[in-house]
Amino acid sequence: MPKPAIVLLLFSLVIVLTVAIVATLPQAPRGPVVIVIDPGHGGHDPGAVVAGVQEKDVNLALALCVLRKAQGRADLRVILTRTTDLYVDLVERVRIAEAAGAHLYLSIHANYHRDPTVRGVETWVDTSAGGESLRLAREVQRALVAATGAPDRGVRRQTLYLRHTSLPTALVEVGYLSCPSERALLLDSTYQEKIADGILRGLLAFLGAP
Ligand SMILES: [Zn+2]
Repeated sequence: MPKPAIVLLLFSLVIVLTVAIVATLPQAPRGPVVIVIDPGHGGHDPGAVVAGVQEKDVNLALALCVLRKAQGRADLRVILTRTTDLYVDLVERVRIAEAAGAHLYLSIHANYHRDPTVRGVETWVDTSAGGESLRLAREVQRALVAATGAPDRGVRRQTLYLRHTSLPTALVEVGYLSCPSERALLLDSTYQEKIADGILRGLLAFLGAP
């Protein structure tokens, strides 16, 4: 074989190998991270109702606030399971997240207790939840307590519809509507901003985003 032919052959081989190696390298994530926020209840299901305040309305206001805060970030895309006073089937809510290719799902709620002195933040995972859901719950709980200064009632487990997906999922109870002083805070726009900031910070911590 003439020398130029050998050089050409080797050169071609290097090109083919390079293309093959690059093709097998893990792809960098493309586009923004998708987050699904669920304003709990809605429509015919008001959730807790105390002194004329319906939980579904508080949940929606908070979810919309998180959405607004995330809109300035090119690395995030926030999708809400509802943007109006509408009931969405619970399993359908997690299906929305799966269909959107979500990295996580967080449901926002406000709490109720017979004892009006009970107040504070707690975050729930399903009894079958894996490590990622637990990590999500802990980050949201920590950041929300830090942002609001509300009592930390911890991360807890109970049977939830969140078991119908393998996505990282958690349900945050941002405060007690049954506690008059906390109810007033939950209706206050400045405090709502603090809650939304805390939730967003918790989600970013979970995602490892700055
Ligand atoms: Zn609720």
